[in-house]
Amino acid sequence: MSEKKIPYKIYLSEDEIPKAWYNMRADMKNKPAPLLNPGTGKPLTAEELSPIFCDELVAQELDENTPFIDIPDEIRNFYTMYRPSPLVRAYCLEEKLQTPAKIYYKFEGNNTSGSHKLNSAIAQAYYAKKQGLKGVTTETGAGQWGTALSMACSYFGLDCKVYMVKVSYEQKPFRREVMRTYGASVVPSPSETTEVGKKILAEHPGTTGSLGCAISEAVEVATKNPGYRYVLGSVLNQVLLHQSVIGLEAKAAMDKYDIKPDIIIGCAGGGSNLGGLIAPFMGEKLRGEADYRIIAVEPASCPSFTRGKFAYDFCDTGMICPLAKMYTLGSSFIPSANHAGGLRFHGMSSTLSQLYHDGYMEATSVEQTSVFEAAEQFARVEGILPAPESSHAIRAAINEALKCKETGEEKTILFGLTGTGYFDLVAYEKFHNGEMTDEIPTDEQLQASFAKLPKVDA
Ligand SMILES: *Cc1c(COP(=O)(O)O)cnc(C)c1O
Repeated sequence: MSEKKIPYKIYLSEDEIPKAWYNMRADMKNKPAPLLNPGTGKPLTAEELSPIFCDELVAQELDENTPFIDIPDEIRNFYTMYRPSPLVRAYCLEEKLQTPAKIYYKFEGNNTSGSHKLNSAIAQAYYAKKQGLKGVTTETGAGQWGTALSMACSYFGLDCKVYMVKVSYEQKPFRREVMRTYGASVVPSPSETTEVGKKILAEHPGTTGSLGCAISEAVEVATKNPGYRYVLGSVLNQVLLHQSVIGLEAKAAMDKYDIKPDIIIGCAGGGSNLGGLIAPFMGEKLRGEADYRIIAVEPASCPSFTRGKFAYDFCDTGMICPLAKMYTLGSSFIPSANHAGGLRFHGMSSTLSQLYHDGYMEATSVEQTSVFEAAEQFARVEGILPAPESSHAIRAAINEALKCKETGEEKTILFGLTGTGYFDLVAYEKFHNGEMTDEIPTDEQLQASFAKLPKVDA
């Protein structure tokens, strides 16, 4: 029982919340490719980005050389409301699996928004406030990002306009009401409040909307209203930077007990939680100081890394946003109705895409029924009701732990538990009723989408 020296939860003190974010790009030899202006095909400049994003966030987006960027006190103060987040040793899961593996997870669901997204929302709201802006606009699908952003905006007294995909607005009223509780205005998209929304409604009356369309509306409102900027909850370099707080805390907690993970696992939608969790570990790997196996887990229904192409593509379905070089299924690809809403993006962070391309990390895809099996197994022994997105990482962690059981290897596994699943109970219901299906795109479907990739000779 000497193993029990490591507590069930390793907490850090408030003083140990990181004082600076870590920017992985500073240690990358092959930097991620720049965002391109879709009109000119040239890298976007700070001037071109400033009507869309806050100035300091533009600077962070373009900064590929500064390894550490100070976290302003105002943001650290907010972090202390729900951070440091616990690093949990999954003793009960290990016991249940009868594995010699040692499993740890970093739990980011301990805040009202229920996910890691608040780590970047509060930073983005802070910089908007500091610039003297009136408010920000954004899109949300299932609502995790919109919820986090509305909390952050209410803290700094900023107006928050959220364009929520109409079908979610109607079918998922709960997150919508959380957002309104924090003072955000939530508009079902497409709407009559924008030119692009009116155009889409005229062309497709009765449409239930899409994320791409909601992005187009949010960007239009931000650029047309003085004092507003647009904010995004994943994919961008700045978001990965803010999320590095997850990995920095995890590493600090592990260092206290001389624990070194062999395998680090995270689910990947746009790549922000994974990029944040692995940041300091990847930094060591890039500098040649240590080695880790790093695994991105994605849904088989939306397999950007495992079946996508590494190419320049639009970040949105509406094809108005900048072009990013990333692993992509094509911006016209529409994944089947997977219940992990946060993992339905067609592309991937360009930083993670470059790292994957250069062999610094692996990727795997998992099917949704097996994900919910893992979620239920985890909930029953560890107590936490996991988000469907997070459960992709649980599935992969359990798979690795079961391999250790076969080989007898005592590997140390760290995975990111990004959030809770209280608003996803319809998905759990489908699973329990045996109504959940696994839909995997065919090669023909992917080829059709790849054929529409923009032609870029960068
Ligand atoms: C949004 C979300 C994700 C996926 O987004 P990433 O940017 O890939 O991290 C994962 N888990 C939860 C709970 C989310 O809300």
